[in-house]
Amino acid sequence: MIRFEQALRVIEKSVSPLTAEEIPLEKALNRILAQEVVSDADMPPFDKASMDGFACRRSDLGNELTVIEEIPAGKVPVNPIAPGQCARIMTGAMVPEGADFILMKEHAELTDSKRIRCIRHVESANICYKGEDVKTGDTLLRPGIKLMPAHLAILAASGFVRLMVTKMPEVAVISTGDELVEPADQPGAGKIRNSNGLQLTAQAGQLGLSADYLGIVPDNRQKLLEAVSDAFSRYHVILITGGVSVGDYDFIPDILRELEVDILFHGMKVKPGRHLLLGRKENHFITGLPGNPVSAFVLFEIVLKPLLGRLMGSKEQPQVLHVPLAETYSRSNQEMLFFIPVSLMGDGTALPLEYHGSAHIHAYSAANGIMEVPVGVKEIRKGELVHVRLI
Ligand code: AMP
Ligand code: MG
Repeated sequence: MIRFEQALRVIEKSVSPLTAEEIPLEKALNRILAQEVVSDADMPPFDKASMDGFACRRSDLGNELTVIEEIPAGKVPVNPIAPGQCARIMTGAMVPEGADFILMKEHAELTDSKRIRCIRHVESANICYKGEDVKTGDTLLRPGIKLMPAHLAILAASGFVRLMVTKMPEVAVISTGDELVEPADQPGAGKIRNSNGLQLTAQAGQLGLSADYLGIVPDNRQKLLEAVSDAFSRYHVILITGGVSVGDYDFIPDILRELEVDILFHGMKVKPGRHLLLGRKENHFITGLPGNPVSAFVLFEIVLKPLLGRLMGSKEQPQVLHVPLAETYSRSNQEMLFFIPVSLMGDGTALPLEYHGSAHIHAYSAANGIMEVPVGVKEIRKGELVHVRLI
């Protein structure tokens, strides 16, 4: 059994990012950028009015001014502003030559149809200066970031309509177990519904991956061998649940040896999920997850996210908050790193949720975080800081 940190190091060492591909910007949400993006223009590209009002000279604010022109957004001003003059200007329009101040409409008074006077003014010139946001040659984005809406905005503003991103891994989800029926079916005696299939597909979906669900495979060595062997030829990552612990029908480790899959580790000192298995064949991976839904859920969050992220070329770290605990937490076992469902409260504290072990998936319905309870820690008192991963 290896420690959690060791498992993460194994992943870092054994998983290489997939190659890059070019895609249109409209398809880039949630993709991992595989290039540096450098601006080839200033932003804004010209001095721009940030208010509706009158473009004038600051030194003229004490005088009555003649309105010589109207400049809506998108129009190039015709006349420079001379002393005693101003131009009616709209937000987003180009500031005319000679003007260094936009007098807000609300701060001006018409003295006749073509003349105004300042009744009040603020210090700010109400101008967004050329290159104030971005200068030509500035690095806008670096490789390894996950493209979010704000990134798409800067890419759109700079005209990057095609960009290089890392390819998305092909992911397969397989459920194993003679006791399983599909959610739409009525479980007979001794049977339960398969919840892991949908759960894992959905977790992959949250990363922007569309995983293929390959169905339920019975606890039959030959059938499992065929299913896993076929999936290895078609997918970068296979998520298989059930059959990795030490029961008589837990065939997965044995099958992987037969398929000459390198077993990178089998067993991790965490709870839930200590039977986790990670295997590799070239840059294709299989994770054998315990059948217990909570184990599968937590392992996806703590191990598969880094693994898939690495394949996607991501340089992002998991979002971990340090927050005070809402209620004292204690446990009897202190040999393992525990992951406990918590609810982040309005007052910024984390409330541990009632939780009866790794079959208790319902406890996670109310959770929006997973708290770490480190090895050697038996009790964490109310108010002490804990590490919580957002889910
Ligand atoms: P296993 O890891 O195969 O020993 O299974 C551990 C527990 O998880 C057993 O109680 C199984 O019935 C349950 N289980 C296994 N697979 C699933 C699944 N796909 N959905 C829900 N529960 C499962
Ligand atoms: Mg099983």
